[in-house]
Amino acid sequence: MDLIKIDNLRFFANHGVFKQEQEQGQYFYADLRLYLDFKAADETDDLTKTADYGAVCNFAYEHLTKNTFKLIETAADSLAEEILISFPLIREVFVEIKKPDAPIQLEFECVSVCTTRKWHRVFIAVGSNLGNKEENINKALKLLSAEQSIRIKKVSELIETPPYGYEVQPVFLNGAFEAETTLEPMELLRLLKEVEEDCGREKTFRWGPRIIDLDIIFYDDVVMDSEKLTIPHREMHLRDFVKIPLCEIAPDFVHPILKKRVCDL
Ligand code: AMP
Repeated sequence: MDLIKIDNLRFFANHGVFKQEQEQGQYFYADLRLYLDFKAADETDDLTKTADYGAVCNFAYEHLTKNTFKLIETAADSLAEEILISFPLIREVFVEIKKPDAPIQLEFECVSVCTTRKWHRVFIAVGSNLGNKEENINKALKLLSAEQSIRIKKVSELIETPPYGYEVQPVFLNGAFEAETTLEPMELLRLLKEVEEDCGREKTFRWGPRIIDLDIIFYDDVVMDSEKLTIPHREMHLRDFVKIPLCEIAPDFVHPILKKRVCDL
């Protein structure tokens, strides 16, 4: 990926944990690394095909001077997220916030924090078998599309499938979609649970009937297994109702553990 570097953008602000820092303010410096593809800009020599570094500097300056944060960690992370959302061509951003006058009673040059945020490619399976199933699925997609941290890229056809695990219940309507997100895996899971709740999902039993179900199938090629979240989804390769819609939108995506393309699964 190509890179735009901005070093030592100077700004005066009141970030800090101590009262004196909040009242008097101090100078900070920001380093930014903007990762994007220059190809379209190279070919056309057109500013609108790249990230305008002047606009990014003004945006960062506004963000860091109009808001006050106790922690430079929060300042850096929120800036990284806002840059990704506001400059659509930027795929990844690194932010370093330097605090040369941090309240430390020793000799030092500078304290700084660094963070990186990027757009991640995710695949999510969706299903419903209660009420107006198509409406439930459309509502979930609408709620997710309203989030700045999510961009829905491709949605599969919805297919009717027999219940799985517990068979005495209505047939399901299932689909899958591809999205980009700035959220980390656990943040994404929390958002999906909120959307399920907003769509009226109530707790039942495993494999039981549900107004809406949203499962993370793939998240880049991340492999993780924690108490609350397993990626890739543990049973995706056993479930036709996941594989069929996924194969429609991402036949060539390679399962990072099984090392097989979705179309071969
Ligand atoms: P569900 O019944 O599909 O809503 O999932 C129940 C629980 O499975 C969730 O509350 C998650 O904590 C957990 N889980 C583990 N891996 C995943 C995943 N890849 N996507 C969604 N939920 C998951």
